[in-house]
Amino acid sequence: MAGSGKTSFVQRIHAHLHQKERPTYLVNLDPAVYQVPFDPNIDIRDTVNYKEVMKQYGLGPNGGIVTSLNLFATKFDQVMALLEQRSQTHDYMIMDTPGQIEVFTWSASGQIITETLASTFPTVVAYVVDTARCVSPVTFMSNMLYACSICYKTRLPFVLVFNKSDLVDAQFALDWLKDYESFNEAIASETTYIATLARSMGLVLEEFYTQLRAVAVSAFTGAGMDDFFEAVDAAVVEYNEEYKTMLQTLR
Ligand code: GDP
Ligand code: MG
Repeated sequence: MAGSGKTSFVQRIHAHLHQKERPTYLVNLDPAVYQVPFDPNIDIRDTVNYKEVMKQYGLGPNGGIVTSLNLFATKFDQVMALLEQRSQTHDYMIMDTPGQIEVFTWSASGQIITETLASTFPTVVAYVVDTARCVSPVTFMSNMLYACSICYKTRLPFVLVFNKSDLVDAQFALDWLKDYESFNEAIASETTYIATLARSMGLVLEEFYTQLRAVAVSAFTGAGMDDFFEAVDAAVVEYNEEYKTMLQTLR
């Protein structure tokens, strides 16, 4: 979601790996971002001018992002050539996505970019959540449904990242994922229609949760970064075992 801390998290990943002397390759896919706190190796803003795209095609902000991404996607073969070259010397390549995430996950270009990456590299989706905005069980559920939809759309290994743990301890969210009863208890006092729906959805999503890796981090303090990379490594194993097999059967 916009403002959950994706860009700050990318910056933290970069700092964390730099400290371990493991070089990272950074790609900014957000055409509308004003300032990026890291120095991306590839930046969509070098290829397309978002403001100019809006003006030229008479578009609003979201249309401008979609069209900029579309234009960028037509050149993605060049990006892939660079990534393949750099993958010899870089262990991790991090893509930062646009603030309005639905523009990326539900657009043709977003799909092209994700699938092209995943056809060559072990690709993992990190879904960044603003933990402070999930303390209410109903909002938590709405966020998890969103995560679920992205997981099914991309079919890629997934890591749920509860960010801003410096503000709110994310343990409650990790507990709700592991144990339906604790979620049920949190929502028990509510009798509204939406609370009843959230309870039922919780039961449905129990199965989805078991396949998820979830970690608590803080992009600000760097807490939880080792847990995150442990989850990424596990997700890569899943990519090699499941996603690659799926690709082969589709071909
Ligand atoms: P994006 O839209 O998902 O890329 O989010 P940004 O990285 O731009 O961050 C949105 C806001 O959340 C900014 O004001 C950040 O300073 C703040 N933020 C991001 N990560 C953290 C964190 O771990 N802790 C706290 N307290 N604030 C954060
Ligand atoms: Mg951002």
